[in-house]
Order: sequence, then structure tokens, then C-alpha cells
Amino acid sequence: MCIFCQIVEGSIPSEKVYEDDNLLAILDIAQTTKGHTLVLPKKHSNNFLEMDEKEYMNLMNKVQVLSKRIIKNLNAKGCNILINTNKEAGQTVMHSHVHIIPRYDENDSINISFKENKYDLNEILEKINED
Ligand code: 5GP
Ligand code: ZN
Repeated sequence: MCIFCQIVEGSIPSEKVYEDDNLLAILDIAQTTKGHTLVLPKKHSNNFLEMDEKEYMNLMNKVQVLSKRIIKNLNAKGCNILINTNKEAGQTVMHSHVHIIPRYDENDSINISFKENKYDLNEILEKINED
């Protein structure tokens, strides 16, 4: 059983931010910034690509509600919403989850940088739209 399934089951303890029949939100053990939260479906799927539409919409809806609450009550200025999908993208726990990372200023302890590359945009568009 994966580590988040064990948290859902209660055999591994967690700090619960929110819980209902389908979802659980917990404080991330790493606390990259104060209030770093993970929102996850109780039903196991490896990543968000595997979730059905209804499940996914319900999850993201709660991510927005919790983001607003976390920002307001922790006095944050914004947040990053992150879904790492597969190990190449940094996913370490193979159970679907969304990170809510509250942001306090531009120099707090998360640094997301977008490097630039030159690709042929038309070629990429064609590929994306292939059946
Ligand atoms: P990923 O890299 O898969 O997107 O994120 C997994 C997250 O789960 C990491 O930020 C890590 O700190 C967190 N995590 C791993 N194990 C535990 C645990 O046992 N409890 C909690 N609360 N968080 C965990
Ligand atoms: Zn699981």
C-alpha cells in the first residue's frame, strides 16, 4: 500500500487540514513554506492523468477553496499550485496529489524558474493537434 493510502487509512499519522468522504488535505511534512499543504483523493490513482473527470473536478474545486483559506488565515500573499506528474517531473509519491504552496514573498524558500528554449512553435502545434 502506498504511503498516502496509509495516511488515508490512518496507519501513518498526519496533520489534517481538511477531510471528507473522498478527499484528504494534510500538511506536507517538508513545509517548503509555512502552510505547504497536499490535497489528495482518498481513492488511489498513480497521478492526476489517471483520475476520472468528476474526481478531478472535485479535487481542484477543493484546492481552490483551501488555497483561499490558507492564504487568508496565514497571511500569505499568493500561492503556487503544483502537480508533479511522473518521476521525470519530480513526483516522488505515486498517489495523486496537489501541492498548495503559500507564498510570502518572491524570495521565500521555493524557486521556480522557467528557462527559455527556441523550438519551432508551428511544428509543436501540429504535433499537439495530431489525433
Ligand atoms: P511529490 O514530489 O510526489 O509531488 O510530493 C510528495 C510530497 O509528499 C513531498 O513534498 C513530501 O515532503 C511529502 N511527503 C512524503 N512523505 C510524507 C509523509 O509521510 N507525510 C506527509 N505529510 N508528507 C509527506
Ligand atoms: Zn495510494
